Amino acid sequence: MMNKKTDVLIIGAGLSGLLAAAKAVESGKGVTVAAKGMGSLSLSSGCIDLWGYDIDDPQRVCQNPLAQIARLNEVNPEHPYTKVADVLEESLRYFQGLTERYGCPYRDNGGANWLLPTALGTFRPSFLAPPSMALRDLDKAKRIVIVGYEELKDFYPEVMASNLARNGNLPESVKLTVVKLRSAWKKLYATTLAHRLEQAEGIREAVEQIKAHIVDGTVVLFPPVLGERLDIDVTGQLAKALGAPVYEVANIPPALPGQRLQQLLLKHLRNAGVDVIIGCTFTGAKVEGNRCLQVTAEGAGKTFTFSAKTYILATGAFVGGGLDSRIGEAREVIFNLPVRTAEKWASGEFLSMNGHGFNRFGIAVNDRLQPLDREGRVCLENVRITGANLAGANGPIEKCGNGIAVASGYKAGKLAGEVAQ
Ligand SMILES: Cc1cc2nc3c(=O)[nH]c(=O)nc-3n(C[C@H](O)[C@H](O)[C@H](O)COP(=O)(O)OP(=O)(O)OC[C@H]3O[C@@H](n4cnc5c(N)ncnc54)[C@H](O)[C@@H]3O)c2cc1C
Repeated sequence: MMNKKTDVLIIGAGLSGLLAAAKAVESGKGVTVAAKGMGSLSLSSGCIDLWGYDIDDPQRVCQNPLAQIARLNEVNPEHPYTKVADVLEESLRYFQGLTERYGCPYRDNGGANWLLPTALGTFRPSFLAPPSMALRDLDKAKRIVIVGYEELKDFYPEVMASNLARNGNLPESVKLTVVKLRSAWKKLYATTLAHRLEQAEGIREAVEQIKAHIVDGTVVLFPPVLGERLDIDVTGQLAKALGAPVYEVANIPPALPGQRLQQLLLKHLRNAGVDVIIGCTFTGAKVEGNRCLQVTAEGAGKTFTFSAKTYILATGAFVGGGLDSRIGEAREVIFNLPVRTAEKWASGEFLSMNGHGFNRFGIAVNDRLQPLDREGRVCLENVRITGANLAGANGPIEKCGNGIAVASGYKAGKLAGEVAQ
């Protein structure tokens, strides 16, 4: 059986795993990322949500996410942010620096949340947004042109326009115009359209049909389809040709901005010399005392093992596949770590405003991100836990999924880099 040795093994290629790798490799150590698939980044909006709503009034958008997170020590000390508070701001700056280096500088809104328009005509709070989405002052526009495609089934510009007009966030003087473009396809998918728009012809077709609707003070909103590739600036090309600012709005998966961020991080890891292996599923671990010696994986019809000094478990809880469940029981699939659960798994209402109990399930850790047993003792001292695997967050409700992934990935990578050779 083949055994691969590395200093730091990161299991999982979602946002937390990729960021852990980026940080760990700076220490000069050998770093390997191995995963069965690519994680939820390519499904997410591509924005980094940090903290969406006010702790005291969950109906109100939170104005200062960092100040709210600082309060978690007192109101929810088991929340993952309390374990990464020491690096939170540092990790966000690091992430912004990395994205800037690859020509896609994620923008903050001066410490406040952005309020980004969505395909449903609502506004979603987010802390960092790619340049194609970081839209400020929509209410100051004179005209908003919402562009859709007849054949695109994932985006209904009329619905967006009518909800924007109804929800009271825009002054009545703002004129909303829906422009439905025609394409040569019977049925259009976001990725097909993104390819088309990466070509001069695709831009020309779109500009020809939109141009007549542009007046002074127009903002043009597209679904998130403005190119698949990181190195082609479709948004910039459209804005230049139309003579008006162009933005993408958040929509249902697949979300091209998330895929572009994934490409950016993978490109960086390749440049930095990280070994990335996709297509291997980890199934078990060899443990002695409270150290992991080896993990076992299967891929391409073979079984192989990996040995490392530090293992970073970035397997994404239930969605990513790192946690599994049967009725009344949840388990971590590789190390068999204890999973912190709650008596009530689910709310009676599917779209409950409080979310579901299982959102908070995960692995309890100390402030070095080492997993803890039910008595609060470290169970594996050379394993660190990141991202959605961490117990205690209610990601969909608190709007904090990618924020926790960035901070915990960064911290785990940093700690792994400090381990003696
Ligand atoms: C549809 C969707 C939309 C979202 N939108 C947003 C958003 O707009 N903003 C936001 O902030 N957050 C969003 N989130 C939440 C956010 O994406 C996650 O909280 C965060 O990215 C989790 O990252 P992760 O690295 O912990 O895990 P994941 O991204 O889930 O990655 C897990 C990785 O582990 C691998 N893996 C799992 N088990 C094994 C195994 N046994 N062996 C090998 N590999 C394994 C997987 O293949 C994958 O590579 C969204 C989530 C989803 C599902």
